[in-house]
Amino acid sequence: MSQELSQEEIQKRMQLMKDNCIFCKIIKKEIPAQIIFEDDICLAILDINPATKGHILLMPKEHYMMMPMVPDQVLGHLTVMSKYLTDLIKTTFDDSKDVTVFIANGAAAGQQSQHFMSHLIPRYENDNINFDIKGEKLNEQELKNLAEKFQAKLVEMNSQQPQ
Ligand SMILES: [Zn+2]
Repeated sequence: MSQELSQEEIQKRMQLMKDNCIFCKIIKKEIPAQIIFEDDICLAILDINPATKGHILLMPKEHYMMMPMVPDQVLGHLTVMSKYLTDLIKTTFDDSKDVTVFIANGAAAGQQSQHFMSHLIPRYENDNINFDIKGEKLNEQELKNLAEKFQAKLVEMNSQQPQ
């Protein structure tokens, strides 16, 4: 283990990360982007490397690295905005009736930016995007074991919450 960082050092590193974040610069209008929607909490822009035509990036204006760090209220707002932007996509493009809403949470999940965001990807027929996430089928016992593992952890987490 590396040595513990002081609170001050953590703050300093967070600030450095924000200062170097492209998306924070876009939010501060220091770097141009095609803005689709903006309010006090969030910003929606066009992805410059779109998976499909109309690929939108929706992000909180505050810098958070990953979903667990995003306050519930902000995350709730982003989810509601995802709903409206999904509608906007569907009404803007006649040939796109479906939208994939995608969050890459961490590097192993394909997260490429340091700024938490969700992707709204308009889907088209034969767009060759593969979200095939099905694996091998589990048997009853395997499913039961997994569910019990989650349930035991939930009980443990709840008992640790301050009353
Ligand atoms: Zn940022």
